[in-house]
Amino acid sequence: MYRGRFAPSPTGPLHFGSLVAALESYLHARAHRGLWIVRMEDLDLPRCVAGADEDILRTLEAFGFRWDGPVLYQSARTSAYRDALEQLKARDLAYPCSCSRRETGGGDYPGTCRSGLRDPSRPVAWRVRAEEHGDFVVYRSDGFFAYQLAVVVDDAAQGITHVVRGADLLDSTPRQNWLQRQLGYPVPQYRHVRVATNAEGEKLSKQTNAPAIEAVEAPRLLREALGFLGQPKPSEDCSTAPRILEFAVANYFLPSIG
Ligand code: GLU
Repeated sequence: MYRGRFAPSPTGPLHFGSLVAALESYLHARAHRGLWIVRMEDLDLPRCVAGADEDILRTLEAFGFRWDGPVLYQSARTSAYRDALEQLKARDLAYPCSCSRRETGGGDYPGTCRSGLRDPSRPVAWRVRAEEHGDFVVYRSDGFFAYQLAVVVDDAAQGITHVVRGADLLDSTPRQNWLQRQLGYPVPQYRHVRVATNAEGEKLSKQTNAPAIEAVEAPRLLREALGFLGQPKPSEDCSTAPRILEFAVANYFLPSIG
């Protein structure tokens, strides 16, 4: 049974880039007669905005999306993440690290704390011994579980079979696959969609001030997103968001690779 998901972070309203990701995961799921689940990735509490979760859900509804089952909130999942971290620790696959972001630089972590903390007086993060993927962080020194761990634990707990998301997350996939293998979870199928950019070529995001998508613009923006995804153009009589989505599911075109 196909189980797909859309996993927004409630750090602000949905923008055109999030609409593209939601739409492709929705169409892929529905065209496979699968379930489409929404998961609220409110893990990084300091970055979350109060009320953004409700705003996202109302916007999805206004754009005609219907999801299956309850919305899972990552902020309620701490004990599951802790169990996974304990498993990694018990098998010596994770080690504490006191290096600051500044010290680790931009690239893969050089493994400074692998054989002992460099500065035991500082709060520690936990990293996994993932070698070829860089020893990435699964628990942050500010007390929050890291995205990579939470996503893997939740995708497994929710029985996700297909992950459809933006290509900006492409380099997370091998890391998540590594965690899935270590934790004995099934590995879903992945599909990454082209990232929407603004006139300056920057990825649409809160940081680049991407405008919020508005319900009154739903038909126009859905048509635009379908065009962006290379999907067939809905006929002119599809004037409402639900009709456009219905058309898009029925005419979904899955390009073959190679
Ligand atoms: N919450 C992530 C984001 O909004 C997406 C996570 C995922 O699809 O794996 O960028």
